[in-house]
Amino acid sequence: MFRFPLLLDGARRHILLLGAHSDDIEIGCGATLLALTRAQPELDVTWVVLGAEGVRENEARASGDAFLESAGRSEVVVHGFRDGFFPYVGGEIKEVFEELKARVDPDIIFTHTRHDLHQDHRLVCELTWNTWRDHLILEYEIPKYDGDSPTPNVFVSVPEPIAREKADLIVGLFESQAAKHWFDAELFLGLMRLRGMESHSPSGYAEAFTCRKLALWIG
Ligand SMILES: [Zn+2]
Repeated sequence: MFRFPLLLDGARRHILLLGAHSDDIEIGCGATLLALTRAQPELDVTWVVLGAEGVRENEARASGDAFLESAGRSEVVVHGFRDGFFPYVGGEIKEVFEELKARVDPDIIFTHTRHDLHQDHRLVCELTWNTWRDHLILEYEIPKYDGDSPTPNVFVSVPEPIAREKADLIVGLFESQAAKHWFDAELFLGLMRLRGMESHSPSGYAEAFTCRKLALWIG
């Protein structure tokens, strides 16, 4: 398989991460982020969580700091929109995107996937595409009871220690989610192992994304 470097040069690059809830970014692209920030210390990262209140806000901020420890410059923004109600306050969330658009011009955007069955996730994806129209957008996946796993077409191979670090960080940082029947390191590692198999990852582990538009450039 021909493999493109995720970032091609040493220029200072900006990554925008968008997540509906406090653990989405970590589950969707946490290992990619850990690997990327360590390989490219000059990376600027803007991390935005739309819906986290109380203990979940504290967890979101602690997790953002942990995952972004190696970033060159980072900003963690946490809003308090109510879980499950995003489509019903879409105008207010759209305002958040408009504010971001005015001050952030990212090279790569990580966001939810279009056909995610969680309505909050879907709205974040929709507003991402409405807001940034000349950017590389990679849609990450969130495994869930509903069984809406996408068929991804972009894979990022990650070393096994980073895959395990991601899983351990998530389980360790989000104590409020511990009672959920699916919230364990085995699930997070299992999904990365599956995507690693599908992409023939040298380590056996990968995170996977959906890319709807990719512009190639010659010379
Ligand atoms: Zn979520």
